Amino acid sequence: MKALYSVGDCPVCADSGAVIVLKVIGSDRFIFYCPTCGVAWRTPPPERTLNEINSLKDLAPDGVAIPTAYEALESGCDPVTIEFEEWFPHLEFRLQEANIPLNINDE
Ligand SMILES: [Zn+2]
Repeated sequence: MKALYSVGDCPVCADSGAVIVLKVIGSDRFIFYCPTCGVAWRTPPPERTLNEINSLKDLAPDGVAIPTAYEALESGCDPVTIEFEEWFPHLEFRLQEANIPLNINDE
């Protein structure tokens, strides 16, 4: 079953955005991305604090992948599962708009 992982509400758009854990293609790193406002972070953003604003293109120029459950746990950021059907369309739309390749893991 497909799932997306989130580290919580987006500090930019608050309750309407979820910060989603993504893997950076071509590296072992993770990034944290809100598909509602399109802001990306290198580390999970502290609540209600705007410490860093990045675009996905800066942090993952070669694209992103949706982590597996194991990988999400491995990221060490204690993510929660969010509704795939609800969030994936936002994510896909944003990535297409920004011309960022997306890899989907089919387990
Ligand atoms: Zn946001």
